[in-house]
Amino acid sequence: MITEKQYNEAIIQKEEAQKSINLYHKEQNKAFENRMKNNPIFTDDELTYSAFNFCPCGHGLAYPKGCSMQHYWDCSAILKGIANFDFEHTAKLPFSFYSIRGENEKETTRGIFLPREKSKI
Ligand SMILES: [Zn+2]
Repeated sequence: MITEKQYNEAIIQKEEAQKSINLYHKEQNKAFENRMKNNPIFTDDELTYSAFNFCPCGHGLAYPKGCSMQHYWDCSAILKGIANFDFEHTAKLPFSFYSIRGENEKETTRGIFLPREKSKI
């Protein structure tokens, strides 16, 4: 039987734990924002790719691991600093507006390039 005292102690523990969780997320978000500001070039290992969706340039859509829920899908070539700007690229596609499936073991755009014939010039 849980006593009211034990219950109240558990509530306090829960609130303290939530503070730690919130602080952790705040620190992670700040570290990510600093990374985007100072060195927004990522390696393949640092990216999550889409399962099926490509940028108009032919590279898969992706986002950096560790970003917040307010982030967006972008062209993986731009994120890796290898984009050819003679070709059209996707706009930034916020997670909250675009339902794009992330990669899994069987479905990914990672490492796939679909060359396009049309350039914007
Ligand atoms: Zn692109």
